[in-house]
Amino acid sequence: MTVKKIGVIGAGQMGHGIALVAAQAGFTVVLQDIKDEFVKKGIGKIDKFLNKSIEKGRMTEADKKKIMVNLSGTTKLADMKDADLVIEAIFENVQVKKELFKQLDALCKKECILASNTSTIPITDLASATSRPEQFIGMHFMNPVPLMKLVEVIRGLRTDDATTRIIYDLSEKMGKIPVEVNDGPGFVSNRLLMPMINEAIYCYMEGIGTPENIDNVMKLGMNHPMGPLALADLIGLDVVLNIMQVLYEGFNDSKYRPCPLLKKMVQAGHLGRKTGKGFYEYDG
Ligand code: NAD
Repeated sequence: MTVKKIGVIGAGQMGHGIALVAAQAGFTVVLQDIKDEFVKKGIGKIDKFLNKSIEKGRMTEADKKKIMVNLSGTTKLADMKDADLVIEAIFENVQVKKELFKQLDALCKKECILASNTSTIPITDLASATSRPEQFIGMHFMNPVPLMKLVEVIRGLRTDDATTRIIYDLSEKMGKIPVEVNDGPGFVSNRLLMPMINEAIYCYMEGIGTPENIDNVMKLGMNHPMGPLALADLIGLDVVLNIMQVLYEGFNDSKYRPCPLLKKMVQAGHLGRKTGKGFYEYDG
């Protein structure tokens, strides 16, 4: 099967980025969201990103035109019926995602591959909402999508080799480096990253170091581009807490228990950059 048309569901932070890299790679892309204003906002962000690339001399006006003709927006899920691949990037809610996949399974052609960009929900669980678990896979892009190289390609229990191969090759075509992993709580990326962030919060709570010093140890000593607490602020502390809870419940292991300070900060509404306050303070 050759993938020509890709549907992207959800025009938010991740969905618009996925649509952009797919259109850039020459695929025909349809970006869908529940409201027209969300679709327009997503396409507006793509337009802005491409204009910036032109300003920086990374592409020409003609390059931008070539990308934009590949891209269209819609609010109709039915527009996915002739897609070869649909990538879902809607809210991180298992019930809502499963309901969407059930609908997609009913309306998409039988060869169509269904993929989810979920950060934490088991791929095997999402696949169970469809009649095609062999053609169901995780495509975990990183934020911001146009800049980050990795696509974590997650095989559910029943994902077949042909689907994995197609998604692997297609991720490369999008300019990404795919890394294949099997399904499990947090996959590899969040299973390693989130406990590190959680542990950094424990260090701060226990008075082992200030946020700046904790972050500097990891930046200067381990060559991390960003310290774990600054990264937590960027990701959003509510998202960090949610993923720690998934690991904690998924493994039934106390080593993944969310740090009490993390819980308290989320309760207080100190969610990081998006609320102006987390481990650091932010203007505007
Ligand atoms: P977001 O809130 O920016 O965007 C979600 C979009 O989905 C919204 O525009 C919303 O209107 C739309 N949507 C919701 N329900 C829908 C439905 N039924 N049909 C169509 N559209 C619908 O969220 P995001 O940060 O882009 O996250 C999307 C997914 O990507 C989540 O599963 C998240 O866990 C995952 N993810 C996020 C990041 C990140 O850093 N933001 C990184 C990797 C993976």
